[in-house]
Amino acid sequence: MSEINLGIIGGGQLGSMLSEAAKKLNINTIIYCDDKEAPAQNFCDQFIYGDYDDKDKIKEFVNKVNLITFEFENIPYETLNEMNKIKKVLPRPSVNRLIHHRLAEKDFINKLNLRTTKYVSVEKKSDLESLTDFLPGILKTTTMGYDGKGQYPIRSIKDISSLNIDFSKGYILEKIVKLKKEISVIITRFGMNDYEIYEPIENTHEDQILKYSIIPAEISEKLFNESKNWSIRIAEELKYIGTLCVEFFIDRNENLYVNEIAPRVHNSGHLTINAYNVSQFENHIRAICSLEKIPIKKISNAKMTNLIGNQIVPYKKNLKLNQNEFFFDYLKKEIKANRKMGHITKLV
Ligand code: ADP
Ligand code: MG
Repeated sequence: MSEINLGIIGGGQLGSMLSEAAKKLNINTIIYCDDKEAPAQNFCDQFIYGDYDDKDKIKEFVNKVNLITFEFENIPYETLNEMNKIKKVLPRPSVNRLIHHRLAEKDFINKLNLRTTKYVSVEKKSDLESLTDFLPGILKTTTMGYDGKGQYPIRSIKDISSLNIDFSKGYILEKIVKLKKEISVIITRFGMNDYEIYEPIENTHEDQILKYSIIPAEISEKLFNESKNWSIRIAEELKYIGTLCVEFFIDRNENLYVNEIAPRVHNSGHLTINAYNVSQFENHIRAICSLEKIPIKKISNAKMTNLIGNQIVPYKKNLKLNQNEFFFDYLKKEIKANRKMGHITKLV
């Protein structure tokens, strides 16, 4: 077999876990990241530091690899598109362009006749005054948001006058769903009607940041099947190659909504490393590198806990773990509040 040099854009924990999975498959990884301290340099074979618009550095990177993927969706479309002219980028840059814009993403989902929250585009502050149908709501930047960043709750029209945000960026206003639960479905698509799909994962957020992911999700059989079927439709419609995550809301009347799509491996899927024979990371690599598809099998139920900010400290000090517990340290240099520093997966 010829040697594969896989380029990965982004050097966070997802890049690290992709590199580890690649290593297992004898694939070399070269990571490109705009953060000198990127933790994934501890796990990849080669690391290139440069801005996402540094043409020379990007050229150096592209020359070294056979194929390119990414660990986060907020990479300028132009950058991905230019790379794709020389080496294949998977998932395709056009998928990324669609999904990284909240408005385009939601329009796409609605066109498939799948439910989303009620939403509307907002260009200026005065737009908000006529949008009481969408309140209580959350104003979100159309691009670059993650872990609740760039989100502003608006309970009532009174909240609008005190909003102090830069409207030169685009926003959408989303009506709040009275949440009963949040779940996600991870699917790896290899080609037409050819995929592996994990069972729905139940997610709990704290301060809009994922805290726990659990399988099995405590949901009805109807929602179990519906969420999987909707995810398959999305992946097929996008002609997606690789691992994709669909985040869902379930409201108090048991209605399912697509919240958002992540065109990449996802935090809620970290438990697949220990709970399945093939993880979401390995499956992503298998799909984009056209390797053999292995039927996935659950080994155990599991609970993943994100270690945020200082929560990692006792684990770093060799806190004793039980045999069914697995600790992952992302090796980030600096502990910051609200920063994902590591996680624990417990098989149950
Ligand atoms: P991010 O890109 O930061 O993940 P999300 O849109 O997924 O943004 O929002 C983060 C979390 O905030 C969601 O998982 C959910 O808990 C809460 N949230 C966001 N939008 C809504 C909404 N319209 N109704 C209820 N909860 C919401
Ligand atoms: Mg989200």
